[in-house]
Amino acid sequence: MGTENTHKRITKIFITNVKPANMKNRYLLLLIVLISFGSLAQKTYLHCGKLVDVKNGNVLSDKTIIISGNKIESIENGFINSKNEADTTVDLKNKTVLPGLIDMHVHLEGETSPDNYLKPFTLNEADVAFNSVGYAKKTLMAGFTTVRDLGGSGVNVALRNAINKGNIVGPRIFTAEKALATTGGHADPTNGRKRDLMGNPGPKEGVVNSVEDAKKAVRQRYKNGADWIKITATGGVLSVAKNSKNPQFTEEEIEAIVTTAKDYDMQVAAHAHGDEGMQRAIKAGVKTIEHGTLMSTETMELIKQKDAYLVPTISAGKYVAEKAKVDGYYPAIIVPKALEIGSQIQDMFSRAYKKGVNIAFGTDAGVFPHGENGKEFGYMVEAGMPAMKTLQAATITSANLLGQNNTIGQLKSGYIADIIAVNEDPTQNIKTMETVVFVMKEGTIYKD
Ligand SMILES: [Zn+2]
Repeated sequence: MGTENTHKRITKIFITNVKPANMKNRYLLLLIVLISFGSLAQKTYLHCGKLVDVKNGNVLSDKTIIISGNKIESIENGFINSKNEADTTVDLKNKTVLPGLIDMHVHLEGETSPDNYLKPFTLNEADVAFNSVGYAKKTLMAGFTTVRDLGGSGVNVALRNAINKGNIVGPRIFTAEKALATTGGHADPTNGRKRDLMGNPGPKEGVVNSVEDAKKAVRQRYKNGADWIKITATGGVLSVAKNSKNPQFTEEEIEAIVTTAKDYDMQVAAHAHGDEGMQRAIKAGVKTIEHGTLMSTETMELIKQKDAYLVPTISAGKYVAEKAKVDGYYPAIIVPKALEIGSQIQDMFSRAYKKGVNIAFGTDAGVFPHGENGKEFGYMVEAGMPAMKTLQAATITSANLLGQNNTIGQLKSGYIADIIAVNEDPTQNIKTMETVVFVMKEGTIYKD
């Protein structure tokens, strides 16, 4: 940036000071100035011992990635040294280099704790915002350069914008703003409260009870700055409500959500544990099923037919099942749901993968501590998915779903320089994904 600004200033001084006479020579001189500044623009050379080519599913050896500005300029064979002293070289000869990771299911506004259910009464919006700054940074440092935030209060929109402006450090965010639910549904914001505090939230707050409400709620999300729409198609584990798996929208309501979202160039993600709600959502045209816990074989076929994706969030399942055993960690109404649902996600994932269901990578970070997103890789491998396929799910597949397949998700010339490194070859030891040692986002190094 510094060089660019100096460059602009000099160009400006030059243009304002030239006299009409001798214009030709002066423009020639200007051209020389421009070219010399261009060649002085600092580049970064990454010497990569190993490099994961997610497109072809190979691990390559001894490569140099040359980064100019925020983009990958080229990838060369061997370790190339720059002839320009201003350039930076980073030695990753003992590391494995990958494209920046993508987590398709996070909640950056909050994080699990035993007092989570008090927070709506104790935290102001500014508190939520300041907390989210820390969570965003942790996520980036864990190697996740892009995330899809699937629901909060709307602070996630401001967080996305602040990161995009460079005011704070964090991953690139695609956000659903506030998730849509039905009255008493999983994302009804006043569940479990005493009646005078329940109020009657409507489409403006993301609560839908008709086709008309559905359209209005989607349009409100668009107006509020959402990139995606999230619905809670069935009950959930962590809401203060009895049922974790009942269907909560009619198919007509979901159809209205999907078609309205399409008008605004948005796609729909559906939280679902129970099979009936999942089926309705897939038939109505949602693009991703989140969790998918009780997915039947029939639904697995349906998801393939409709070219939808499963975002498994095994990490969240394991975490809630474990914490449910800690006395008082969750309210009593949550405990049996967490024990039942949490423990089943990994098995379902195993069956879905074997059935050939499309899989994208997502963790539900926030339900467990941010920054531990990398554990999901190990859980996926444990369930029978080859390591390379898990890496592809978290890069090229997720980039595709976000409509960003021409800019992120691969190490390729012309792509945005989102690059990470780990200590070992993850196809040999997937646990290495839990310790990301180098993070570059858009050409800037955040962790080295
Ligand atoms: Zn979630």
